[in-house]
Amino acid sequence: MPLFDLPVPPTLPIVGSDDRVNVGRIFCVGRNYEAHAREMGGVVDREAPFYFTKHPTATVLSGATIPYPLGTSDYHHEMEFAFVIGAPAFRVAPEDALGVIYGYCCALDMTRRDLQAVAKDKRRPWDLSKDFENSAIFGAVTRAADFVPGDQRIYLTVNGQSRQDATIADMIHSVPAIIADLSKYYHLRPGDIVLTGTPEGVGPVQAGDVLVGGIDGLAPIELRIGVAE
Ligand code: MN
Repeated sequence: MPLFDLPVPPTLPIVGSDDRVNVGRIFCVGRNYEAHAREMGGVVDREAPFYFTKHPTATVLSGATIPYPLGTSDYHHEMEFAFVIGAPAFRVAPEDALGVIYGYCCALDMTRRDLQAVAKDKRRPWDLSKDFENSAIFGAVTRAADFVPGDQRIYLTVNGQSRQDATIADMIHSVPAIIADLSKYYHLRPGDIVLTGTPEGVGPVQAGDVLVGGIDGLAPIELRIGVAE
């Protein structure tokens, strides 16, 4: 008999279905848009993507209000295109990769940018800046049969003001390339979710802000920032 009641990650709604996606692991691609890599002062690696992870209990559903997080004074939005794995995937060839996807959704990779800067400067892991409570926000999932990744617009507004506006065609590593690469290192499982990186225009948010993000063809995402605890 397990002793403790541990948090269970919320499940994601699915467009046009009463089923829910239960969240497995959360993988995030770093620096997957040239202009964002440049604004961060980073260099793009065209050879292979790199990754960090978030704990599934960091999941928040679109529509929520979350408190301004602990330990930061530079809390940033990163609007991202995400996909959900729907079949076991190990050493998948790029041409077979789209076949293991269950669906697609909007996501926010919320980031404590000041802590990330410290981590980069001191060559430490990114966990404190990326994998923290309420840091992974997801919209409803659109099934793969109803969406084909192409040159869809990806955008984010804060209090109605445009902050990020780009196209997912600008991704350096495509969805099939990411699956082919990531499945060399992990046995991907149904429910695993991959965030594919953010375009340029990341920036800080404050208590009281309302974030609305979208990708053409997918359900939009909305998040309200509450006061700090
Ligand atoms: Mn990101």
